[in-house]
Amino acid sequence: MNEHKVRVRFAPSPTGGLHLGGVRTVLFNYLFAKQQGGDFILRIEDTDQSRFVPGAEEYIFNTLTWCGLVPDESPVHGGSYGPYRQSERKPMYLPYAQQLVEAGQAYYAFDTPEQLDNMRKEHPNFQYNHQFRLKLSNSLTLPKEEVAQKIANGEPYVIRILMPANETVVLHDLIRGEVSFDTAQSDDKVLLKADGMPTYHLAVVVDDFHMKITHAFRGEEWLPSAPIHVLLWKYLFGLDAMPKWAHLPLILKPDGHGKLSKRDGERLGFPVFAKEWKDPTTGELTSGFKERGFLPEAFINMLAMLGWNDGTDQEVFSLEELLQKFNLERVHKGGARFDFEKATWFNQEWMKRMSTLALTEKVQPILEASLQSKLATEKVMQAVEMTRERCALLNDFITQAGFLFATPASYDIASIQPKWDEKKQHFFKAFVVELGKISEWNAPAIEARFKELAAEQGVKPGDCMLPLRVMLVGGKFGPGVFDIAAFIGAAATIERIEQVLGQLG
Ligand code: GLU
Repeated sequence: MNEHKVRVRFAPSPTGGLHLGGVRTVLFNYLFAKQQGGDFILRIEDTDQSRFVPGAEEYIFNTLTWCGLVPDESPVHGGSYGPYRQSERKPMYLPYAQQLVEAGQAYYAFDTPEQLDNMRKEHPNFQYNHQFRLKLSNSLTLPKEEVAQKIANGEPYVIRILMPANETVVLHDLIRGEVSFDTAQSDDKVLLKADGMPTYHLAVVVDDFHMKITHAFRGEEWLPSAPIHVLLWKYLFGLDAMPKWAHLPLILKPDGHGKLSKRDGERLGFPVFAKEWKDPTTGELTSGFKERGFLPEAFINMLAMLGWNDGTDQEVFSLEELLQKFNLERVHKGGARFDFEKATWFNQEWMKRMSTLALTEKVQPILEASLQSKLATEKVMQAVEMTRERCALLNDFITQAGFLFATPASYDIASIQPKWDEKKQHFFKAFVVELGKISEWNAPAIEARFKELAAEQGVKPGDCMLPLRVMLVGGKFGPGVFDIAAFIGAAATIERIEQVLGQLG
């Protein structure tokens, strides 16, 4: 095995839906690794047993598969550095925690949750840190024998890192350059929990080492944890072995104020998760880009542009092009503002580039699910051809083409009522009769009959076009009205006109 091979990892905690920022982290990892012939590893960080969510891991795999960002190594794909679930690596971590204790870089802490609660009540600024650690029940304050006794008795304990009181930790970030941290700012984070599981901080360092990770890209929200990780690297494996870090810019709310959250999506009516997620406990369903009608190509393209560009005006990139052009130097430091309109624009651009046949393959199942009936592919293709320029998302076809296959659920009578009169009523009654006589049912023949009849009856054809559209479509939209009539056939055309005439009285 090539010791210098680039190896990157995405390390999600399987606790729910995958935020688009998470997928962008995957994308940047993937692009970086694949550009250099490296490997992309997916590691499941499931050491917090209290947060176990059934189905969440499978969801991650399904999401990555939909995006086309498939790992080389993972719990599903296997690999020579497994297991790839942290819970299955449990025995590996304790010896490292103990090594730190022996070196005086970590310590046992026996404080019960009640004791810690009391401290919080007494000291509003309480943190388990250099200021308070000597007032608590731990191996820094208790006699050696007592510590040994407690452990031998099976008393619950955690192992905490001993943060140096006054040290500057420097991190060379590939995006941010040199970042310095004052260790006094950080508390003594738990490394090993009472259930014997490591916390994220210990596990991420031990696993990145054993999995020979060369570069670690993660969201900017992890930057405050970085000094703890750098110290652990220094103590356990040496800084030379440490992966190169890159903290990716946050994805911001549309107004640019703060990190984009699932709640923002709910509030503003757009998805934030890549794929729809159903919370197994509450049953709450959170929408996803996939279900909203995004193509994976467009989703990936949009994500790539959140925090990166190639230095030109080009915005539409395929994954292959991104593999050629992506570079970390052009990833911005500042947060990237999310814009749903822009995301939709990307999808429209990608739909424009698709053949009608390829688009039909995507649209047919969506239309069939919405209409709850099987459709002939030939007809769907025709419908796609007629309506594609009106659609930006795959789901837009439900509205823009659904009426070509099913009677509208309702008619926008209010839009024609104000100008409705006897003359029009009379015209449409006669038109229905004329339609029944057309032998060659096609758009030019229907249009010709419509215009002739209007002339005969002295009504302006333009005045009757909107009512006819509402009668066939249900609303004031859609492609050419005679093309619609030709598509749905004589029987459906007549039936819809009669239905609306009935409603207009
Ligand atoms: N488990 C962390 C998460 O859920 C991973 C952070 C990292 O990549 O180091 O995002």
